[in-house]
Amino acid sequence: MFAEDGVLILMYHRIGHAPAAARSQALYVSPTLFRRQMRGLVETGLPCLPTLDDALTVAQAGGCGFCVTFDDGFRNVFTHALPTLTELGLRATQFLVADRLGDTNRWDRDEGEPAEPLMDTGQVRAWLQAGQEIGSHTLDHPKLSQLPTDAVRAQLRDSRARLEDAFARPVRHLCYPYGDYDARTRELAGEAGYRTACTTDIGLNGTDADALTLCRILARYRWPSLTNLAGRAWLHWKRRLLPAAGKG
Ligand SMILES: [Zn+2]
Repeated sequence: MFAEDGVLILMYHRIGHAPAAARSQALYVSPTLFRRQMRGLVETGLPCLPTLDDALTVAQAGGCGFCVTFDDGFRNVFTHALPTLTELGLRATQFLVADRLGDTNRWDRDEGEPAEPLMDTGQVRAWLQAGQEIGSHTLDHPKLSQLPTDAVRAQLRDSRARLEDAFARPVRHLCYPYGDYDARTRELAGEAGYRTACTTDIGLNGTDADALTLCRILARYRWPSLTNLAGRAWLHWKRRLLPAAGKG
């Protein structure tokens, strides 16, 4: 059942034009569309929640808002999305693959996808200095449910430690590669000290939101009606509040 209001966590991957060879065309959003989506969201009046801590707190308190996340740490996000975020005063979280900074998306290449450069350490520092957030997307982007428990522990713990050491700040938010998680993965994420974890499960996050299995909405290339969804959620939330306000 799709909730009608709650916290909308947007999931982006690459900001750019999809090469003809790319099989996952839906993982690309053009810089122009990204800008239009961000401006549209701001114009709905729905508040931008700067961190996933805020997203969780607001969701569990029955509030409403949107939160922007990027998976994988692509350099094209740094190049094409950061200027828009900065211009509009929005904060977003980039989930980094800790052992692949400055490298390419090798995990996608096994599936026949074209190579795309990932942000290097200097770019991540500049991203952070611009007021943006980071989270962990494991060490090298495996399917966690298919690994032995010790290997999952290492993926979760070591990626966090490596990012914390490299960037001298706490890393408390996780994103499961491929949206692949199970009960064991979720438990180990909590054990590794993560405050939240994002999935690719579709939906808004309401009062029953589970911190370690947050739902997201894929901001698809061919889905410019994203702002309609946000506008509807915001309107629904305000309608829900109005009777209570009337009684006061
Ligand atoms: Zn990923």
